[in-house]
Amino acid sequence: MGFREPMDVMDYLPEMEHTDPEVLDRIMTLQQTYNPSACTAADVRRALDRDYLTPEDFGALLSPAAEPFLEKIAVKAKHLTRKHFGNAVCMFTPIYTSNYCDNRCVYCGFNHDNLITRAKLTPDEVETEMANIASTGLTEILILTGESREYSDPDYVAMCVATAAKHFSSIGLEIYPLNSNEYQRMHDLGADYVTVFQETYDPVRYAELHRGGNKRIFSYRLNTQERALQGGMRGVAFGTLLGLRADWRKDAFACGVHGYLLQRKYPYAEISYSLPRLRPCSSHEIDDNAVSERNLLQVALAYRLFMPFAGETISTRERPTFRDGVVNICVTKISAGSSVRIGGHSHVKDQGDGQFDLSDHRGVEEVRDALRGLGLQPVFNDYVRTGMRP
Ligand code: SF4
Repeated sequence: MGFREPMDVMDYLPEMEHTDPEVLDRIMTLQQTYNPSACTAADVRRALDRDYLTPEDFGALLSPAAEPFLEKIAVKAKHLTRKHFGNAVCMFTPIYTSNYCDNRCVYCGFNHDNLITRAKLTPDEVETEMANIASTGLTEILILTGESREYSDPDYVAMCVATAAKHFSSIGLEIYPLNSNEYQRMHDLGADYVTVFQETYDPVRYAELHRGGNKRIFSYRLNTQERALQGGMRGVAFGTLLGLRADWRKDAFACGVHGYLLQRKYPYAEISYSLPRLRPCSSHEIDDNAVSERNLLQVALAYRLFMPFAGETISTRERPTFRDGVVNICVTKISAGSSVRIGGHSHVKDQGDGQFDLSDHRGVEEVRDALRGLGLQPVFNDYVRTGMRP
Protein backbone atom coordinates (compact mmCIF):
# COMPACT_ATOMS: atom_id res chain seq x y z
CA MET A 1 0.00 0.00 0.00
CA GLY A 2 1.08 3.58 -0.42
CA PHE A 3 1.78 5.56 2.75
CA ARG A 4 0.44 9.03 3.35
CA GLU A 5 2.96 10.83 5.46
CA PRO A 6 1.49 13.74 7.40
CA MET A 7 3.76 16.61 8.28
CA ASP A 8 2.97 16.35 11.95
CA VAL A 9 1.98 13.45 14.21
CA MET A 10 -0.76 15.72 15.58
CA ASP A 11 -2.42 16.13 12.16
CA TYR A 12 -5.59 14.10 11.70
CA LEU A 13 -6.21 12.43 8.36
CA PRO A 14 -9.52 13.38 6.70
CA GLU A 15 -11.33 10.14 7.65
CA MET A 16 -10.31 10.40 11.31
CA GLU A 17 -12.92 11.60 13.79
CA HIS A 18 -11.86 14.62 15.81
CA THR A 19 -12.11 14.55 19.59
CA ASP A 20 -12.14 17.41 22.05
CA PRO A 21 -8.41 17.94 22.80
CA GLU A 22 -9.07 18.58 26.50
CA VAL A 23 -7.71 15.23 27.73
CA LEU A 24 -4.73 15.17 25.39
CA ASP A 25 -3.74 18.71 26.33
CA ARG A 26 -3.97 17.94 30.05
CA ILE A 27 -1.79 14.82 29.69
CA MET A 28 0.81 16.75 27.74
CA THR A 29 0.89 19.53 30.32
CA LEU A 30 1.20 17.16 33.26
CA GLN A 31 3.90 15.00 31.71
CA GLN A 32 5.94 18.03 30.72
CA THR A 33 5.97 19.28 34.29
CA TYR A 34 6.67 15.83 35.80
CA ASN A 35 10.31 15.51 36.83
CA PRO A 36 10.93 12.10 38.44
CA SER A 37 14.39 13.00 39.74
CA ALA A 38 12.98 16.01 41.64
CA CYS A 39 10.72 13.83 43.81
CA THR A 40 11.86 13.23 47.39
CA ALA A 41 11.37 10.59 50.06
CA ALA A 42 8.99 13.02 51.79
CA ASP A 43 6.87 13.14 48.62
CA VAL A 44 6.71 9.33 48.59
CA ARG A 45 5.75 9.13 52.28
CA ARG A 46 3.01 11.70 51.72
CA ALA A 47 1.63 9.69 48.80
CA LEU A 48 1.69 6.53 50.91
CA ASP A 49 -0.30 8.24 53.66
CA ARG A 50 -3.10 9.42 51.37
CA ASP A 51 -6.31 7.55 50.57
CA TYR A 52 -6.80 9.38 47.28
CA LEU A 53 -3.74 10.32 45.30
CA THR A 54 -3.19 13.33 43.08
CA PRO A 55 -1.21 13.03 39.84
CA GLU A 56 1.72 14.55 41.75
CA ASP A 57 1.51 11.78 44.38
CA PHE A 58 1.40 9.20 41.60
CA GLY A 59 4.51 10.74 40.07
CA ALA A 60 6.32 10.42 43.39
CA LEU A 61 5.52 6.69 43.55
CA LEU A 62 7.02 6.21 40.08
CA SER A 63 10.17 8.16 40.89
CA PRO A 64 13.63 6.88 41.88
CA ALA A 65 12.89 8.19 45.40
CA ALA A 66 10.19 5.51 45.75
CA GLU A 67 12.50 2.57 45.07
CA PRO A 68 13.53 2.07 48.75
CA PHE A 69 9.80 2.04 49.65
CA LEU A 70 8.68 -0.68 47.23
CA GLU A 71 7.91 -3.22 49.95
CA LYS A 72 5.74 -0.71 51.84
CA ILE A 73 3.99 0.30 48.64
CA ALA A 74 3.37 -3.36 47.84
CA VAL A 75 1.70 -3.93 51.21
CA LYS A 76 -0.71 -1.06 50.58
CA ALA A 77 -1.27 -2.15 46.97
CA LYS A 78 -2.19 -5.66 48.05
CA HIS A 79 -4.58 -4.30 50.67
CA LEU A 80 -6.32 -2.11 48.08
CA THR A 81 -6.54 -4.94 45.56
CA ARG A 82 -8.17 -7.30 48.06
CA LYS A 83 -10.48 -4.52 49.25
CA HIS A 84 -11.80 -3.74 45.77
CA PHE A 85 -11.43 -7.03 43.89
CA GLY A 86 -11.41 -9.64 46.65
CA ASN A 87 -9.18 -12.54 45.64
CA ALA A 88 -10.69 -12.82 42.15
CA VAL A 89 -8.41 -12.84 39.12
CA CYS A 90 -9.94 -12.90 35.63
CA MET A 91 -8.49 -15.20 33.00
CA PHE A 92 -8.61 -14.68 29.24
CA THR A 93 -6.70 -15.49 26.11
CA PRO A 94 -5.77 -13.46 23.04
CA ILE A 95 -6.51 -14.64 19.51
CA TYR A 96 -4.48 -13.24 16.63
CA THR A 97 -6.64 -13.50 13.53
CA SER A 98 -4.25 -11.68 11.18
CA ASN A 99 -0.71 -10.35 11.22
CA TYR A 100 -0.97 -7.97 8.29
CA CYS A 101 -0.07 -4.45 9.32
CA ASP A 102 0.01 -1.10 7.54
CA ASN A 103 2.31 0.52 10.05
CA ARG A 104 6.06 0.89 10.36
CA CYS A 105 6.74 0.65 14.08
CA VAL A 106 10.48 0.10 14.32
CA TYR A 107 10.22 -2.14 17.42
CA CYS A 108 7.64 -4.65 16.13
CA GLY A 109 7.90 -7.90 14.22
CA PHE A 110 4.63 -7.16 12.38
CA ASN A 111 6.11 -3.95 10.87
CA HIS A 112 4.82 -3.57 7.30
CA ASP A 113 8.38 -3.58 5.95
CA ASN A 114 9.39 -6.84 7.65
CA LEU A 115 9.63 -9.89 5.45
CA ILE A 116 7.72 -12.22 7.75
CA THR A 117 5.16 -14.84 6.86
CA ARG A 118 1.77 -13.11 6.78
CA ALA A 119 -1.52 -14.87 7.34
CA LYS A 120 -5.16 -14.14 8.02
CA LEU A 121 -7.80 -16.55 9.25
CA THR A 122 -10.83 -17.26 7.08
CA PRO A 123 -14.29 -17.08 8.72
CA ASP A 124 -14.30 -20.89 9.07
CA GLU A 125 -10.86 -20.80 10.67
CA VAL A 126 -11.95 -18.06 13.08
CA GLU A 127 -14.86 -20.30 14.08
CA THR A 128 -12.55 -23.29 14.62
CA GLU A 129 -10.00 -21.28 16.60
CA MET A 130 -12.64 -19.74 18.84
CA ALA A 131 -14.40 -23.05 19.41
CA ASN A 132 -11.08 -24.57 20.46
CA ILE A 133 -10.38 -21.73 22.87
CA ALA A 134 -13.91 -21.95 24.32
CA SER A 135 -13.39 -25.68 24.93
CA THR A 136 -10.74 -24.80 27.53
CA GLY A 137 -13.49 -23.21 29.62
CA LEU A 138 -12.44 -19.61 29.04
CA THR A 139 -15.29 -17.18 28.44
CA GLU A 140 -13.29 -14.04 27.75
CA ILE A 141 -11.33 -13.44 24.56
CA LEU A 142 -9.22 -10.60 23.20
CA ILE A 143 -9.25 -10.26 19.41
CA LEU A 144 -6.09 -8.92 17.77
CA THR A 145 -5.68 -8.36 14.06
CA GLY A 146 -2.49 -6.44 13.43
CA GLU A 147 -3.30 -2.92 12.31
CA SER A 148 -4.37 -3.13 8.67
CA ARG A 149 -7.62 -1.55 7.56
CA GLU A 150 -6.83 -3.01 4.17
CA TYR A 151 -6.50 -6.69 5.13
CA SER A 152 -8.60 -6.68 8.31
CA ASP A 153 -11.25 -4.13 7.43
CA PRO A 154 -14.16 -3.31 9.78
CA ASP A 155 -16.34 -5.95 8.08
CA TYR A 156 -13.69 -8.59 8.86
CA VAL A 157 -13.43 -7.40 12.48
CA ALA A 158 -17.24 -7.43 12.73
CA MET A 159 -17.23 -11.06 11.52
CA CYS A 160 -14.69 -11.95 14.21
CA VAL A 161 -16.75 -10.22 16.92
CA ALA A 162 -19.99 -11.86 15.80
CA THR A 163 -18.28 -15.27 15.83
CA ALA A 164 -16.81 -14.59 19.27
CA ALA A 165 -20.25 -13.63 20.60
CA LYS A 166 -21.39 -17.22 20.00
CA HIS A 167 -18.66 -18.60 22.25
CA PHE A 168 -17.67 -15.95 24.80
CA SER A 169 -19.41 -13.69 27.30
CA SER A 170 -16.74 -10.99 27.24
CA ILE A 171 -15.00 -9.81 24.07
CA GLY A 172 -12.14 -7.35 23.86
CA LEU A 173 -10.67 -5.70 20.80
CA GLU A 174 -7.04 -4.81 20.30
CA ILE A 175 -7.06 -3.65 16.71
CA TYR A 176 -6.34 -0.44 14.79
CA PRO A 177 -8.18 2.61 16.22
CA LEU A 178 -11.71 3.18 14.95
CA ASN A 179 -14.13 6.09 14.89
CA SER A 180 -16.88 6.10 17.52
CA ASN A 181 -19.61 4.95 15.09
CA GLU A 182 -17.43 1.95 14.19
CA TYR A 183 -16.96 1.14 17.88
CA GLN A 184 -20.72 1.33 18.28
CA ARG A 185 -21.10 -1.25 15.50
CA MET A 186 -18.62 -3.59 17.21
CA HIS A 187 -20.30 -3.05 20.56
CA ASP A 188 -23.71 -3.85 19.12
CA LEU A 189 -22.26 -7.13 17.83
CA GLY A 190 -20.95 -8.06 21.28
CA ALA A 191 -17.60 -6.35 21.90
CA ASP A 192 -17.20 -5.03 25.46
CA TYR A 193 -13.87 -3.37 25.80
CA VAL A 194 -11.06 -1.87 23.78
CA THR A 195 -7.34 -2.02 24.44
CA VAL A 196 -4.99 0.41 22.74
CA PHE A 197 -1.39 0.99 23.67
CA GLN A 198 -0.15 4.51 23.10
CA GLU A 199 3.37 2.98 23.16
CA THR A 200 4.98 6.28 24.19
CA TYR A 201 3.39 9.56 25.25
CA ASP A 202 6.35 11.62 24.04
CA PRO A 203 5.26 12.98 20.62
CA VAL A 204 8.87 13.46 19.48
CA ARG A 205 9.89 9.90 20.35
CA TYR A 206 6.57 8.69 18.94
CA ALA A 207 7.38 10.26 15.57
CA GLU A 208 10.83 8.62 15.56
CA LEU A 209 9.39 5.17 16.24
CA HIS A 210 6.28 5.30 14.03
CA ARG A 211 7.59 6.02 10.60
CA GLY A 212 4.55 5.28 8.48
CA GLY A 213 0.94 4.21 8.40
CA ASN A 214 -2.08 5.66 10.19
CA LYS A 215 -0.59 4.83 13.57
CA ARG A 216 1.76 7.74 13.03
CA ILE A 217 -1.08 10.05 14.05
CA PHE A 218 -0.35 10.42 17.76
CA SER A 219 -3.46 12.48 18.58
CA TYR A 220 -5.96 10.14 16.91
CA ARG A 221 -4.44 7.16 18.70
CA LEU A 222 -4.40 8.89 22.08
CA ASN A 223 -8.09 9.69 21.82
CA THR A 224 -9.06 6.12 20.91
CA GLN A 225 -10.32 5.13 24.36
CA GLU A 226 -12.58 8.16 24.48
CA ARG A 227 -14.09 7.31 21.08
CA ALA A 228 -14.57 3.71 22.23
CA LEU A 229 -16.50 4.88 25.30
CA GLN A 230 -18.56 7.22 23.14
CA GLY A 231 -19.32 4.17 20.97
CA GLY A 232 -20.77 2.39 24.00
CA MET A 233 -17.90 0.18 25.16
CA ARG A 234 -18.04 -0.93 28.79
CA GLY A 235 -14.33 -0.66 29.39
CA VAL A 236 -11.08 0.64 27.96
CA ALA A 237 -7.50 -0.41 28.63
CA PHE A 238 -4.36 1.69 28.48
CA GLY A 239 -0.74 0.75 28.03
CA THR A 240 2.64 2.21 27.28
CA LEU A 241 5.33 -0.05 25.92
CA LEU A 242 7.87 0.39 28.66
CA GLY A 243 11.37 0.70 27.29
CA LEU A 244 10.60 2.72 24.17
CA ARG A 245 11.47 5.99 25.82
CA ALA A 246 14.67 6.76 27.68
CA ASP A 247 12.69 7.81 30.74
CA TRP A 248 10.08 5.05 31.14
CA ARG A 249 8.80 6.73 34.31
CA LYS A 250 7.39 9.63 32.32
CA ASP A 251 5.53 7.26 29.98
CA ALA A 252 4.10 5.29 32.90
CA PHE A 253 3.08 8.59 34.49
CA ALA A 254 1.33 9.82 31.34
CA CYS A 255 -0.42 6.48 30.87
CA GLY A 256 -1.70 6.46 34.44
CA VAL A 257 -2.91 10.04 34.13
CA HIS A 258 -4.64 9.20 30.85
CA GLY A 259 -6.82 6.58 32.56
CA TYR A 260 -7.37 8.88 35.54
CA LEU A 261 -8.62 11.76 33.38
CA LEU A 262 -10.98 9.58 31.36
CA GLN A 263 -12.32 8.01 34.56
CA ARG A 264 -13.21 11.48 35.79
CA LYS A 265 -14.85 12.37 32.49
CA TYR A 266 -16.68 9.02 32.10
CA PRO A 267 -17.34 7.77 35.67
CA TYR A 268 -19.13 4.59 34.51
CA ALA A 269 -16.16 3.42 32.42
CA GLU A 270 -14.20 0.35 33.52
CA ILE A 271 -10.61 1.49 33.32
CA SER A 272 -7.69 -0.90 33.24
CA TYR A 273 -3.97 -0.78 32.64
CA SER A 274 -1.83 -3.24 30.78
CA LEU A 275 1.81 -3.70 31.67
CA PRO A 276 3.70 -4.46 28.46
CA ARG A 277 7.48 -4.28 28.55
CA LEU A 278 9.57 -4.24 25.41
CA ARG A 279 10.57 -7.77 24.41
CA PRO A 280 12.96 -9.00 21.73
CA CYS A 281 11.25 -9.39 18.34
CA SER A 282 12.35 -10.09 14.80
CA SER A 283 13.03 -6.45 14.08
CA HIS A 284 13.78 -3.69 16.53
CA GLU A 285 16.36 -1.00 16.84
CA ILE A 286 16.15 -0.28 20.50
CA ASP A 287 17.44 -1.48 23.85
CA ASP A 288 15.02 -4.08 25.18
CA ASN A 289 16.76 -4.29 28.56
CA ALA A 290 16.00 -0.73 29.64
CA VAL A 291 13.24 -1.66 32.10
CA SER A 292 13.88 -4.28 34.78
CA GLU A 293 11.28 -6.50 36.43
CA ARG A 294 11.62 -4.39 39.56
CA ASN A 295 10.89 -1.28 37.50
CA LEU A 296 7.80 -2.99 36.07
CA LEU A 297 6.69 -3.94 39.57
CA GLN A 298 7.02 -0.31 40.63
CA VAL A 299 4.73 0.75 37.79
CA ALA A 300 2.13 -1.90 38.67
CA LEU A 301 2.12 -0.82 42.32
CA ALA A 302 1.89 2.86 41.51
CA TYR A 303 -1.12 2.25 39.22
CA ARG A 304 -2.89 0.41 42.06
CA LEU A 305 -2.41 3.19 44.61
CA PHE A 306 -3.34 5.91 42.12
CA MET A 307 -6.37 4.13 40.64
CA PRO A 308 -7.53 1.62 43.28
CA PHE A 309 -10.57 0.50 41.23
CA ALA A 310 -8.74 0.04 37.94
CA GLY A 311 -7.97 -3.38 36.53
CA GLU A 312 -4.40 -4.42 35.77
CA THR A 313 -3.35 -7.00 33.20
CA ILE A 314 0.02 -8.72 33.08
CA SER A 315 1.39 -9.85 29.74
CA THR A 316 2.72 -13.27 28.73
CA ARG A 317 5.84 -11.38 27.76
CA GLU A 318 6.80 -11.82 31.43
CA ARG A 319 8.14 -14.90 33.24
CA PRO A 320 5.64 -17.15 35.07
CA THR A 321 7.19 -16.46 38.48
CA PHE A 322 7.03 -12.72 37.96
CA ARG A 323 3.43 -12.92 36.70
CA ASP A 324 2.40 -15.01 39.69
CA GLY A 325 4.14 -12.54 41.99
CA VAL A 326 2.35 -9.43 40.73
CA VAL A 327 -0.99 -11.19 40.45
CA ASN A 328 -0.66 -11.91 44.15
CA ILE A 329 -0.31 -8.18 44.84
CA CYS A 330 -2.11 -5.93 42.38
CA VAL A 331 -2.81 -7.53 38.98
CA THR A 332 -6.46 -8.49 38.37
CA LYS A 333 -6.38 -10.12 34.95
CA ILE A 334 -4.02 -12.68 33.46
CA SER A 335 -3.82 -14.34 30.06
CA ALA A 336 -3.39 -18.09 29.71
CA GLY A 337 -2.86 -20.53 26.89
CA SER A 338 -1.59 -17.65 24.78
CA SER A 339 -0.32 -17.87 21.23
CA VAL A 340 0.85 -14.89 19.18
CA ARG A 341 0.78 -16.91 15.95
CA ILE A 342 -2.08 -16.85 13.45
CA GLY A 343 -4.05 -20.04 13.95
CA GLY A 344 -1.92 -20.93 16.96
CA HIS A 345 -4.87 -22.22 19.00
CA SER A 346 -5.83 -24.95 16.57
CA HIS A 347 -3.04 -25.10 13.99
CA VAL A 348 -5.67 -24.56 11.34
CA LYS A 349 -3.24 -22.12 9.80
CA ASP A 350 -0.04 -22.05 11.79
CA GLN A 351 1.84 -20.20 9.10
CA GLY A 352 1.91 -16.64 10.35
CA ASP A 353 4.92 -15.39 12.29
CA GLY A 354 4.32 -14.18 15.85
CA GLN A 355 4.56 -10.60 17.09
CA PHE A 356 7.00 -11.19 19.94
CA ASP A 357 8.47 -13.97 22.08
CA LEU A 358 6.35 -15.34 24.93
CA SER A 359 7.90 -15.96 28.32
CA ASP A 360 4.94 -17.75 29.84
CA HIS A 361 3.80 -20.76 27.83
CA ARG A 362 1.44 -22.18 30.46
CA GLY A 363 -1.97 -23.41 29.43
CA VAL A 364 -5.29 -22.49 30.97
CA GLU A 365 -5.27 -25.31 33.54
CA GLU A 366 -1.71 -24.56 34.66
CA VAL A 367 -2.43 -20.87 35.22
CA ARG A 368 -5.72 -21.70 36.94
CA ASP A 369 -3.94 -24.12 39.28
CA ALA A 370 -1.17 -21.59 39.96
CA LEU A 371 -3.75 -18.99 40.98
CA ARG A 372 -5.46 -21.46 43.29
CA GLY A 373 -2.08 -22.32 44.78
CA LEU A 374 -1.70 -18.65 45.69
CA GLY A 375 -5.08 -18.65 47.41
CA LEU A 376 -6.66 -16.69 44.59
CA GLN A 377 -9.93 -17.36 42.80
CA PRO A 378 -9.59 -17.84 39.02
CA VAL A 379 -12.60 -16.22 37.37
CA PHE A 380 -13.68 -17.19 33.86
CA ASN A 381 -16.75 -15.01 33.72
CA ASP A 382 -17.32 -11.72 35.55
CA TYR A 383 -19.80 -10.18 33.13
CA VAL A 384 -23.20 -10.99 31.68
CA ARG A 385 -23.88 -9.18 28.44
CA THR A 386 -27.20 -7.31 28.51
CA GLY A 387 -27.05 -5.47 25.23
CA MET A 388 -27.70 -2.19 27.05
CA ARG A 389 -25.48 0.78 26.38
CA PRO A 390 -24.55 3.02 29.31
S1 SF4 B 1 3.12 -2.44 16.95
FE1 SF4 B 1 1.07 -2.82 16.13
S2 SF4 B 1 0.81 -1.26 14.57
FE2 SF4 B 1 3.02 -1.38 14.97
S3 SF4 B 1 3.83 -2.78 13.43
FE3 SF4 B 1 3.30 -3.96 15.29
S4 SF4 B 1 1.22 -4.73 14.95
FE4 SF4 B 1 1.60 -3.07 13.50
